[in-house]
Amino acid sequence: MSEEVKKIASPKDHCGVFAAHKFGGDPLDPGKVISGLSSLQHRGQESAGIAFPEGAGNLTSFKGKGLVSQVFPGHKFPYVKARNMIGHVRYSTAGGGDISNVQPLVANSTEGYQIALAHNGNLFDGNCRRSQLMDKGHIFHTTSDTEVLLAALFNHCHLGLKEAVHRVLGELDGAYAAVVTDGKEVIGFRDRYGFRPLLWGKNGDICFFASESCALDTAGADIVGDVAPGEAVILSRGKVKRQAKNSLPINCPRSFCIFEFVYFARPDSVFDGENVHLVRKKIGEKMASLLHPRVDLVVPVPESGMSAALGFAEASGLPMEKAIHHNPYWKRTFIEPESGQREILARLKYSLVTSLVKGKTIGLVDDSLVRGTTARHLTSMLKKAGAREVHLFISSPPFRYPCYYGIDIPVSSQLAVHKSSGSLAGELKADSVNFARVKDLLGAVAKPGEYCHACFTGKYPLTAENCTKSART
Ligand code: SF4
Repeated sequence: MSEEVKKIASPKDHCGVFAAHKFGGDPLDPGKVISGLSSLQHRGQESAGIAFPEGAGNLTSFKGKGLVSQVFPGHKFPYVKARNMIGHVRYSTAGGGDISNVQPLVANSTEGYQIALAHNGNLFDGNCRRSQLMDKGHIFHTTSDTEVLLAALFNHCHLGLKEAVHRVLGELDGAYAAVVTDGKEVIGFRDRYGFRPLLWGKNGDICFFASESCALDTAGADIVGDVAPGEAVILSRGKVKRQAKNSLPINCPRSFCIFEFVYFARPDSVFDGENVHLVRKKIGEKMASLLHPRVDLVVPVPESGMSAALGFAEASGLPMEKAIHHNPYWKRTFIEPESGQREILARLKYSLVTSLVKGKTIGLVDDSLVRGTTARHLTSMLKKAGAREVHLFISSPPFRYPCYYGIDIPVSSQLAVHKSSGSLAGELKADSVNFARVKDLLGAVAKPGEYCHACFTGKYPLTAENCTKSART
């Protein structure tokens, strides 16, 4: 396992997936899929795309670089007359941001099979699988793991798409949640550990898959539930079939990414019946036990620290004020800013209600500490405005280990906790820095034994060793 050296400003999710299958009547309104993708925009902003059968049933795709609103201006696709559609928003790591890697990927075999695939995550042994498939004659056109997954499906597609998915779930280890279509049916499936999220829902005669329930809400769908780890949900000709992987190895613990709750997901999303905002709030409540410094006022970093700050203030009996304001019109940039520009961006992004903080000891709450640029800027701002002291409360533990399951975490040398040569509080111009503990995170969810927390603890649920074991099962 080597640490990927890539400059990123904050942890990044690879992607979000969305799909729809209409059981009958008029064709699907593509606006439903595009709106669903818009609701997943926070999971990836580099590119967006959809794939669907057109005319005689041949699969085609429409995709491009940029935000969903840039790739699909006006959400207008009058020529799409399909009942099956899959979609994707992407942030690239494995494979890079080349246009050829933009999803969904559509592939044809010489035998006449067609598959379109969109996926979120990382295959654990993607390069090794790529070599094995190349030895079998597969030619790869992209550098992404998605094409490896696609090739693995093609390996079995003479048995039908459903059976191909069933076999691939047993063969490929890694962190993946995917939607696939052959133009007639749509299948959503999730790796056996359940690292990455995938839910499904229903609105009338349309069934949907989405990385997060907030996108199902946008489509007006009721949540049916999470696709279970190792499960495939098949939507075909007006029927739903749930196909569980029946040979799950005993050493295959359920390992949903706890960082989805802490950081990635939208606060209104729900995973396995638990609402993200409420879990974040509970973590904040647990952080009240870290309240050694005397604090007069709790101030959240908007919007990332809001849920935890609410719980923190409620549990500690302290007042909370929205003393920091976020400028919603500041422009996101895809260009990686240099350090000096980052400070200017931070100033563009935040402003302060000075009268609320003057002479007070502030408990500043955020969900994570990455480079420390925002924390340093906000503590300086608060002190310039007359705050007596600023104590930072971070509602996640410090990152200590890389993620191999689909999340790009900045390398150690870029993290504030590692690059600080002296005291971290001094580097951040704060009076103290207090992190939530892993037990606070696990104490905030209903099934603490079913989560991955490897980037905080180094306890990896899936390693080369148990990967090989489970592949043999
Ligand atoms: S290592 Fe961290 S970011 Fe990666 S899946 Fe596990 S909890 Fe999530």
